[in-house]
Amino acid sequence: MLGATISRSQLSKQLRDLGVEPGSVLLVHTSFSKIRPVEDGPQGLIAALRLALGPEGTLVMPSMTEDDDHPFDPKTTPCVGMGIVSDMFWRLPGVLRSDNPSAFAAIGKQATRITAPHPIDPPHGLDSPVGRVYEVDGQVLLLGVGHDASTTIHLAESLAGVRYRRRKYVTVVKEGKPTQVDYQEIDHCCQNFNLVDRWLEEKGFQHKGHVGHAEARVARSQDIIDVVTEQLRMNETIFLHPKGVDVECDEARESIASRLQ
Ligand SMILES: [Zn+2]
Repeated sequence: MLGATISRSQLSKQLRDLGVEPGSVLLVHTSFSKIRPVEDGPQGLIAALRLALGPEGTLVMPSMTEDDDHPFDPKTTPCVGMGIVSDMFWRLPGVLRSDNPSAFAAIGKQATRITAPHPIDPPHGLDSPVGRVYEVDGQVLLLGVGHDASTTIHLAESLAGVRYRRRKYVTVVKEGKPTQVDYQEIDHCCQNFNLVDRWLEEKGFQHKGHVGHAEARVARSQDIIDVVTEQLRMNETIFLHPKGVDVECDEARESIASRLQ
């Protein structure tokens, strides 16, 4: 059963109370089914986020495709697997979207900087939208999702120099033709990114509360990077499941072993 509809101004107050800072750069991952019902649906949530950030703030959302077989077009390619709010966000007037299969979208003062061109490989290094959110001391907000949805943790893996990779490809246009580009990405099933919740809590780096009807978490990108890189330097494979649990983590583990041969 759904609860009472939460108004846009109530949502905005919840966001401020949680610790969203006016004028900041805010990267948001969402699961709208956990947040609803709210006034004006996903658009109402986006409006409340902008209201909480104020005129100097910047709102950022993941905007990537899972389609590796067709070239990415920032004007038409749907954002798949990141939730209805993310797929609505990039389509709104004034929202910029980076031209990359690992795209992010942004609106506000720093939107041009956040969505500037970034390399396909690595997709989530320092020279990427999540890297730029980190560099400008932005915040990461999780609405109805856990840290397993947080792309910022891939940035931490990249900065910590983890050696595991999985084989990936994307399709880009080269000399007018769709062309497959193979690359190796820092990836695995990502379930164990949820360990980050406890690490942040222990250091007092995370604020928890509710936004809409969802559990909400906010932390500074720089704090997330600090605690995760510290853990990865002690144990490179802390996020990987033991062998035999899932194919993604197995492939990541095997990639380290094959590098050592
Ligand atoms: Zn796994």
